[in-house]
Amino acid sequence: MSASYPLPSRSSSGGGPQSPLRLAAEASTPSQSLIRWLTDDVLFHYQRCSRRAFLDLYGDRAQQNHPSDYLLKLRQDSLTHRERVLEDYYPLYRPEFPSGDWAAGAKATLDLMAEGVEAIRQGVLATPSAVAGVQLVSQPDLLIKRPGWSCWGDWVYLPIDIKLGKKPKLDYQIVAAYHAYVLSRVQGVWPEASGLALRGGQMYTVDLARLVPKLQTVLNDCLMDLRSQVAPELFISHSRCDLCHWLNHCYSEAKATRHLSLLPGVTPARYEFLKQHHLTTVAALAQASPAHLAPLPGFGEQVAEKLVHQAQALVDNRAIPRSAPYAPPRLSPVARRSARRRGRTLLRY
Ligand code: SF4
Repeated sequence: MSASYPLPSRSSSGGGPQSPLRLAAEASTPSQSLIRWLTDDVLFHYQRCSRRAFLDLYGDRAQQNHPSDYLLKLRQDSLTHRERVLEDYYPLYRPEFPSGDWAAGAKATLDLMAEGVEAIRQGVLATPSAVAGVQLVSQPDLLIKRPGWSCWGDWVYLPIDIKLGKKPKLDYQIVAAYHAYVLSRVQGVWPEASGLALRGGQMYTVDLARLVPKLQTVLNDCLMDLRSQVAPELFISHSRCDLCHWLNHCYSEAKATRHLSLLPGVTPARYEFLKQHHLTTVAALAQASPAHLAPLPGFGEQVAEKLVHQAQALVDNRAIPRSAPYAPPRLSPVARRSARRRGRTLLRY
């Protein structure tokens, strides 16, 4: 593998004092840290929503939704796919440890690796992070023995994650790079590859040279955010919230605070621009001029007008016709004709 990042030496037993991934969080005060184990699962969800990762670690589980039938079916399909892939590996060992006891899992996995077994399912890899008191924990679906040199002798392991998706999404690849990194600290050498066993029998090899720098950034941000004692801001978005077990919890909070993400048309990208202009509340947006918002990337006159009108309607608790004198008369004749054709603004708040 042609790697552009520092590799631990072949003779190293891994987990040395100097991590190959240099983390900005290193300088933070250890006593502020709440998180003790940063698992690949947390890292995966962090990439989709930092609040989800935070709530998974510190939230009140009683407030989680029950899984929907759709989610249960996805889980079952995922399980079936995993078992199908694992059928190809024999003999297959599984470390035994009490559920959630990462230290015991890491010890049991280390024993199997040192013994040189051919394949391990759901082994636990653990190494200290650059942040005092925080251990990095990775649990790849498979660890496969290969020829090479590790701290145990003439064999090494490489990690494989089994995913139901057909495509190697970036968040899958970041987690696969994370497995490779933690494994390198355990066995003293980077694996030659990190794989993703996707739906349809496809095996994707992750480009570690490209992914490890991205992993470093995600890991830095994740460790920094999850050591805060304040939950990241919510943003209700169908694409990422619909399958989240915190949806009811977040939605109640969004409704109570009249969060702008509940306004149709306020996408995550547009919300970033609104925040840059200090328009973070419905009241502030209602006061804004569509003419000032229209030039922002991803807005335009129609969207700007619609967003401001929706905010005004919400503040006044009434629907506002697009052609009302209340609306700022700054649209072009074409845009005004278009707005009249569309009729009244619909509110789904
Ligand atoms: S419901 Fe949405 S905002 Fe809340 S934690 Fe889940 S993904 Fe994040």
